[in-house]
Amino acid sequence: MTDLADPLVLAQALIRCRSITPDHNSAGDGGAMDLVQGWAEALGLRTARYDRNATPNLHACTTGPGPTLYFAGHTDVVPPGEGWAHDPFAAVPDKGVLYGRGAVDMKGAIACFVAALARTPGRRVSAGLLITGDEEGHAADGTEFLLKQMLNNGHGIARCIVGEPTSLGWIGDTIKIGRRGSLNATLRVVGVQGHSAYPQLAGNPVPRLAAIIEALKATPLDDGTDAFEPSTLAFTGLSAGTGATNVTPADATVRFNIRFTPAHTPESLEAELRRRIAGLGPYELSATCNALPFLAPAGPLRQNAHDAVEALTGRQPVFSTGGGTSDARFIARHCAQVIELGLVNATMHKVDEAVPVDDLETLTRLYSAILMSA
Ligand SMILES: [Zn+2]
Repeated sequence: MTDLADPLVLAQALIRCRSITPDHNSAGDGGAMDLVQGWAEALGLRTARYDRNATPNLHACTTGPGPTLYFAGHTDVVPPGEGWAHDPFAAVPDKGVLYGRGAVDMKGAIACFVAALARTPGRRVSAGLLITGDEEGHAADGTEFLLKQMLNNGHGIARCIVGEPTSLGWIGDTIKIGRRGSLNATLRVVGVQGHSAYPQLAGNPVPRLAAIIEALKATPLDDGTDAFEPSTLAFTGLSAGTGATNVTPADATVRFNIRFTPAHTPESLEAELRRRIAGLGPYELSATCNALPFLAPAGPLRQNAHDAVEALTGRQPVFSTGGGTSDARFIARHCAQVIELGLVNATMHKVDEAVPVDDLETLTRLYSAILMSA
């Protein structure tokens, strides 16, 4: 019989399931979702599966009064990659540290929340789980679909903790309350290919692209807001040339990614980009927004999480909107009080991903305190 109050035992069992995205489409998830479902049922939660296209999705909740406090997370992990000193799926602790793919992102956090449920039978709040098996991939059948199904079935979502690894140095140092948006752009300059000894007969696009790159990054996109760091523009790719040393190319392309605050919309950003490079000659620009920014308003969940961190660690957490996107952006559309609070993110997606066993205990106590204070 599994001790459901012990997050180490639960984390080990979950890590041993090979739930690798994108492999789960063909190979299944190694029983990871069945495991979590079994734990939820053993703790008295009612469960429903909303699997679609080989992506397992689990909704679970207790029946009780008042709004339900949900924990949202994912059982899938990124591929292990090469060069591990520890078997990524053996989950054997070594000198107080548990190694394994998903240890911090985020099987460890799922284990902590389940253990917190097991430790808080006296809580006054209803509690639930919202777990998907596809967060690391395209996620087309993941959290967004799961949310739609649970809402269709009459379950509202008023408060939600997303268990992504948000902590930087110690458990609870950072609580995410929003995220910047993300926009990817490709800009292509077309010229006329020619002989490098006769540049006057060609139209080399490279110097013009260089001027465009310079203009794009000349000034900051904004100064940020109280809750958001300034928007950033980062070049992610550059290509031109035929490979020959005596040919100037016909075209040149630059790719970049913008992380933006709610001060912008995808449309206003694209207009700003075009304004910056107006007068530098013709170009082709295509921009795709893959995440809109969001900011959760202040509320009791945020305050309870803050107070729980302070009581447990004696230190103050920081509210942050930094970092990449997460499934919280989908949840925020239906749920005003959403925060992200999880393990230390130093080893996520890396070789030898690991979590100190003590951190599992600390996060379990933190989740327990939040469950009891709601
Ligand atoms: Zn994750």
